[in-house]
Amino acid sequence: MTIPFLDIQASYKELKTEIDAAVQRVLDSGWYILGGEVDAFEHDYAQYCGTSHCVSLANGLDALHLALRAMGVGAGDEVIVPSNTYIATWLAVSQCGAVPVPVEPVEASYNLDPAQIEAAITPRTKVILPVHLYGQPADLAPILAIAKKHGLRVLEDGAQSHGARYQGQRLGGHGDAVAWSFYPGKNLGALGDGGAVTTNDPELADRIRVLRNYGSRVKYVNEVQGYNSRLDPLQAAALCVKLKYLDAWNARRTEVARRYTANLENSGLILPKVPEGMEAAWHLYVVRAEDREALQAKLTVAGVGSLIHYPIPPHLQQAYADAGFTAGQFPLAEIMAKQVLSLPMGPHLSAEQQQAVIQAITA
Ligand SMILES: *Cc1c(COP(=O)(O)O)cnc(C)c1O
Repeated sequence: MTIPFLDIQASYKELKTEIDAAVQRVLDSGWYILGGEVDAFEHDYAQYCGTSHCVSLANGLDALHLALRAMGVGAGDEVIVPSNTYIATWLAVSQCGAVPVPVEPVEASYNLDPAQIEAAITPRTKVILPVHLYGQPADLAPILAIAKKHGLRVLEDGAQSHGARYQGQRLGGHGDAVAWSFYPGKNLGALGDGGAVTTNDPELADRIRVLRNYGSRVKYVNEVQGYNSRLDPLQAAALCVKLKYLDAWNARRTEVARRYTANLENSGLILPKVPEGMEAAWHLYVVRAEDREALQAKLTVAGVGSLIHYPIPPHLQQAYADAGFTAGQFPLAEIMAKQVLSLPMGPHLSAEQQQAVIQAITA
């Protein structure tokens, strides 16, 4: 038996009839940019997140970038980001001409450590940008309190956390805005690229709406130098179908996580823990191993796929070579990059497949 890290086609197969019908409807409509399908998805996703606005975009990186732009982030500004995240979080800041200022995570949760944020704030800081990494909510209450105290805005990177809850409330409207990705492998994945920003701030939503469409509200009238970053109706139609199943699929992920945790307790690996008051979306099930290479080799031999999220922290990427960071500067991010391994996870991983993963680790 070979077990893929993620069977990306399985979610389409389960919903084939409904998705095919939705795609056919768009093809037959003759309407291929923005319009009713996109409006419908924005309505449904805002309602799901419990926010008053959702602005859909071409991808998650654009969602982060345009949300920061709409918050007024520009050249010379600083944005606080986690030292351990996917590089998109940093790139969005850099695309504004601003500077990503890394802060280390809490070791047990992998998420931004609120206790270390204030030391990183300067007169140039504009935004705090926590990531809900691996589907676990970041500790928002102290982050929001720090932001309020210093007059900063909070943009959350929700690319891995669709449907997760913080203090009983779904992510989407805790901070000023949340940026989402609908990349096919995410918990809510399109059939291509997609993204969105949810917010309760009407001005912010309006600015992002204008930015995504060439800086234009009225055709051929351009208020600002905008971008072309629109979710297309085919993706919106497919996402509307998949959104109806998000909670059920997240519940299946939770069941997978529960079984891993119950069966790997004595494996010697460091397992993920969900802190009190949080409900994870279980985008990834990430373990830590001192000898990660040996663990991954063992899994490979057993036909089990695994991935590393992420092998090189952003500050040590060549892309940020000019920023002057050094090895050892963010030791937790660096240790995690050496030790983390993501096990197969998804709503279509069968109990039998999962048993084989557990067997491969504990044998
Ligand atoms: C996937 C991801 C993004 C970027 O999303 P895209 O849609 O691929 O641009 C941003 N941040 C995090 C944490 C992600 O996992």
